[in-house]
Amino acid sequence: MRSLLVLGLTLSLVSPANAQDMAMAADIRWQPERAQQGTLIYLVVDPNTNEENLSVTGQIAGQELHFNRDPSGEFRALAPIPVNARETIPFTFAIILGADTSHRMVRVPVRPREFRSSRLSVDPRFSRPPDSALQVRIRGESAMSRAVSARSHSTPRMWEGEWIPPRPSSITSEFGVRRMFNGELQSRHMGVDFDGEAGDPIVASNRGVVALVGSFYYAGNVVYLDHGKGLITIYMHMTEVDVTEGQLVERGQQLGKVGATGRVTGPHVHWTARYGRISVDGLSLFDLKIPQRNAAVDRGH
Ligand SMILES: [Zn+2]
Repeated sequence: MRSLLVLGLTLSLVSPANAQDMAMAADIRWQPERAQQGTLIYLVVDPNTNEENLSVTGQIAGQELHFNRDPSGEFRALAPIPVNARETIPFTFAIILGADTSHRMVRVPVRPREFRSSRLSVDPRFSRPPDSALQVRIRGESAMSRAVSARSHSTPRMWEGEWIPPRPSSITSEFGVRRMFNGELQSRHMGVDFDGEAGDPIVASNRGVVALVGSFYYAGNVVYLDHGKGLITIYMHMTEVDVTEGQLVERGQQLGKVGATGRVTGPHVHWTARYGRISVDGLSLFDLKIPQRNAAVDRGH
């Protein structure tokens, strides 16, 4: 009798029996510890079991997350924090154990950022409401842009190692700046501008596939790189594009040349990083650190 009791106790300590117990017992953490508005973070789900027949799915901000299991048994995924996230953002995940699935929601605290405002003068044609023909063009271009984001979720991961900027030059406008065009608040700057003279090379920030080459009203001559598993980078306003759709490019490979096509005040490259449909500060890619297992984790945050 006693030995059976001890055996039962031992088994329950070794591994939770079902997905619900695993979901409740999982440790959740993120890197960096204080997630900022408009950045990419790593989310980690540690199910505290070596059970092999186990997978994790998850969502944040309406975007599918793509979890990979590392040798320590933890599941890790990149995740976007939208620029307009306030205080906390819900992260939902599912533990899947064979046919048994259990869901759980955790709120990730979000640290606010101070975003500056800037005033720009551009050609008045860009600040007048577009006429109906132009509206059709702009809608078509945003549909193409969204389609790249959607497709990227089913592209295998292509990127590896460190990320590099599209130009080795200074930043002339940061991510998130609120923009007044000709005195009217029109938009938030959803990318990072790097300085450049017309004709200077623009390079790929990491390995990826050229998902779209366009000549867009706002973005001018533009290249979309799909790095896989939801992650894309976008390079705008080129004077010349040197790649074609479907081409595989390596980190540092030339994509085109700096120009002033589209809605611009002068030559530069506007560089956007996106996870799915969420634009984030591309500079957060430079700070990505693979989360290390931490002995002192708050169980169930
Ligand atoms: Zn820009």
